Amino acid sequence: MALLKCYNCHQEVPNKVKVCPHCGTSLVKGYKNFIYGGVIVIAFVLIFWKYLDLDLGIAVATLIGATIAIIRGLVGLLKRNG
Ligand SMILES: [Zn+2]
Repeated sequence: MALLKCYNCHQEVPNKVKVCPHCGTSLVKGYKNFIYGGVIVIAFVLIFWKYLDLDLGIAVATLIGATIAIIRGLVGLLKRNG
């Protein structure tokens, strides 16, 4: 049984567990929230970029951050299902 780190409290938890035994966080839900959150942020930046006249550096940094959140969520889900 592989051990993974809880994204919330960073303690090790078995990869088959859906709820962290240390802090009670729903791990599957948490990783899905990373993905949904990242998708929403990317969509928001792309849609409102023109209207809000966002600074390019801020927009790119936000997109990179959102992409990392999505990847983190996907990797977490894949590890947990594997
Ligand atoms: Zn935890």
